[in-house]
Amino acid sequence: MTTKRIGFTTSLPIEVIYASGNVPIDLNNIFLSHDSTAHIHEAELKGFPRSLCSWIKGNFSAALNSDLDEVIGIVQGDCSNSNSLLEMIKEEGIPVYRFSYPHNREYSLMDREISRLEEHFSVSRKQSIEAKKWLDSIRKKLVELDRLCFLERRVSGKENHLWLVNSSDFQGYPQRFERELDEFLYQARQREPLPTRLRLGYLGVPPIFRDLYDIISGLGGDVIFNEVQRQFSMPYLVEDLVEQYLIYTYPYSVLGRLHDIQEQIQIRKLNGIISYTQAFCHLQIDNLLLKKHISLPFLNLEGDLPEELDSRTILRLESFFEVHA
Ligand code: SF4
Repeated sequence: MTTKRIGFTTSLPIEVIYASGNVPIDLNNIFLSHDSTAHIHEAELKGFPRSLCSWIKGNFSAALNSDLDEVIGIVQGDCSNSNSLLEMIKEEGIPVYRFSYPHNREYSLMDREISRLEEHFSVSRKQSIEAKKWLDSIRKKLVELDRLCFLERRVSGKENHLWLVNSSDFQGYPQRFERELDEFLYQARQREPLPTRLRLGYLGVPPIFRDLYDIISGLGGDVIFNEVQRQFSMPYLVEDLVEQYLIYTYPYSVLGRLHDIQEQIQIRKLNGIISYTQAFCHLQIDNLLLKKHISLPFLNLEGDLPEELDSRTILRLESFFEVHA
């Protein structure tokens, strides 16, 4: 059987894809780790408007340039642009598949959606659960990495961000990912704890800015909680595959996210929040509720293009540190 490369637009039950012997590829990670400006330019040449989220344009070009056999789009529980993005990808000759998170978090609907995916890839539930056990043994190590970040401070916020964000697809090679993770954890445990003036929570989709974490640590603070990236790593380690994708907060109501954030604010003893929103993204509306219900100092940063922080944003960060550190 030939191994297929399956692109996807946000986290989904990758257990099913690994169980089928194929390789899941998170298009967002491809977009940011390659020439992202060129990816955006390519999409705009195809007619994508300037006033559209850069991740959508990046995902489109990443899909076209990654030698994919299929793209799975999450059409409920992720992005309001997903359906149209899939139509454009299909138009370019790449087969597409639609996956939905049930809006009301109903167990039977999630179960049915995973079964449909299993049928699509000719995989049994038993095989998916075997794959889950394998991936969970790696996720357990990511939970330890996260603990080394917030409790022992031997892992920086940037390192935490990179490992967790890449766990959405384990970079297509879980064995290699685990080997490198073992090596990283071994090195991290030997370090002295990092001094940190301000313990921050980072909320929202991963930043499109290239240097946000470096600027924050240059100011003497660090990100002790990467909210959505941690969700990508499926940190709860529950046995039930269906339940795993019901307690994953990102696809559902912002109130579920808020509950998780409030809990982590206490556990991680955070002093402030950086909430990131992407230009032209509907999640900016959810951000209003996060700001309303979180009582810590709250700084909202908006990004558009994959570039370094602009001077105005750096000044806002500096003022935030002056007042709260
Ligand atoms: S940042 Fe918002 S608009 Fe952009 S792809 Fe993600 S959910 Fe969609």
